[in-house]
Amino acid sequence: MSVIGHLIDGEIITDGGRTQDVYNPSTGAVSKQVELATVATVEAAIASAQAAFPEWRNTPPIKRARVMFRFKELLEQNAEKICAMIGEEHGKISHDAMGELQRGIENVEYACGVPELLKGEFSRNAGPGIDSWSDFQPLGVVAGITPFNFPAMVPMWMFPLAIACGNTFVLKPSERDPSSTLYIAQLLLEAGLPKGVLNVVNGDKEAVDTLLNDERIKAVSFVGSTPIAEYIYKTANANGKRCQALGGAKNHAIVMPDADMDNTVNQLLGAAFGSSGERCMALSVAVAVGDEAADALVSKLQEAMKGLKVGAFCDASNDFGPVITRAHEQKVSGYISSAEKDGATVVVDGRNPQVEGYAEGFFVGATLIDRVTPDMESYQAEIFGPVLQVVRASSMDEAMKLIDDHEYGNGTCIFTRDGEAARYFSDNIQVGMVGINVPLPVPVAYHSFGGWKRSLFGDLHAYGPDGVRFYTKRKTITQRWPSSGVREGVSFSFPS
Ligand code: NAD
Repeated sequence: MSVIGHLIDGEIITDGGRTQDVYNPSTGAVSKQVELATVATVEAAIASAQAAFPEWRNTPPIKRARVMFRFKELLEQNAEKICAMIGEEHGKISHDAMGELQRGIENVEYACGVPELLKGEFSRNAGPGIDSWSDFQPLGVVAGITPFNFPAMVPMWMFPLAIACGNTFVLKPSERDPSSTLYIAQLLLEAGLPKGVLNVVNGDKEAVDTLLNDERIKAVSFVGSTPIAEYIYKTANANGKRCQALGGAKNHAIVMPDADMDNTVNQLLGAAFGSSGERCMALSVAVAVGDEAADALVSKLQEAMKGLKVGAFCDASNDFGPVITRAHEQKVSGYISSAEKDGATVVVDGRNPQVEGYAEGFFVGATLIDRVTPDMESYQAEIFGPVLQVVRASSMDEAMKLIDDHEYGNGTCIFTRDGEAARYFSDNIQVGMVGINVPLPVPVAYHSFGGWKRSLFGDLHAYGPDGVRFYTKRKTITQRWPSSGVREGVSFSFPS
């Protein structure tokens, strides 16, 4: 069985250490093994990145951008191969994998503009004969730690921009679906990136802790679940590193009585069940305002869900695929059972679906649960599966309070035809990314991505303008060239 290794100093290596099984979630079979990097392997990756930094930092931004241009082309040329790798190990259907890859490529396109992004600020005559300017310098070696659910896109939120800004990078992708990430990193080297500028270590907590505790790592970008995000943020900060740690979510959609119900249902289906609900922006709660709207919503959803198809990643006619592991399948099913036990109504039950030819796959069918209340465990937790819960509220204020009271604040959306209500909602809701009749308001690459509350630890959001700030430090230079021969006096007052 093939063993997936690491990319260190331009070479794929294995270190003979511990390994972990990688599954094909559609069949339930082990397809490969991934090596879990030893401390020595992680240190070798950091040393390689450290050695590559001085030359890369001094490479003109336009030359760094050219590498990114070639990288973008290689990603496009190899898109089908990358999506097949994603499908085999993650389980998402090819059209969904293609969407993820495209959003990743858009971050590479943004990084191609790095000469413009790093231009800095200049003030002539800040004082008599004095000019002052700020420029944005790279930090050094930066680490990225990423989750399983977007093995292509989330790493590309990080390393293209960090590297374009002049940093060198050590990436620790998810050990559950590592192949596409490693291949993408190899494409960047093929595009002309000097060896050592990007290193990839596969691994688990041991690799992560080695990165967090090494003083050569200057900053850490993390995306994953909230408990780990909090741990990463606190540990990185205690070790004097800059850190942005993006965590989990529970994204609510408010459905107002005036919403176009048929369109709302279609939008909700894709946003709740696409990628089996394994998206940090998945809409997992619909808050219907008023019983009439709730009844209409539930009956239309129930009807529409009859046509949904869960199945293997390799059949493009499927709407969504399996969840990532057997354990996760059981966890998701357990939340459906707990909602039922707590008194909610399971309207469409996706537990134990029959998928012909894939009896051992990790499937959960689309599930709809009505009359969920905020005290239920299934409401409080991030289920991360194809489960849409409906909560009934009597007013928009009550619906907004539910969202504000929830521990997560990643994304949210309102379906309405009332502009005033939509504006009030977007102005006041305590969530980082807001959609108005847009179910998955994932910011485009030239904005930045990040939630509020316990969905993000840190000050700066991921990618876009915040990404440039995160991956650079400001230096401000004040310059004066006095005329030779002019004697200058001594002053003890503060310069003004
Ligand atoms: P996870 O937290 O289990 O793992 C994320 C990364 O952390 C992986 O690389 C993993 O190896 C590492 N890790 C796991 N346990 C660790 C530990 N004890 N110590 C140190 N490192 C550890 O997350 P996941 O299951 O891979 O991904 C799903 C989660 O990610 C969901 O909660 C989802 O909402 C979240 N997510 C958030 C965003 C966002 O932008 N906010 C985007 C995608 C996914």
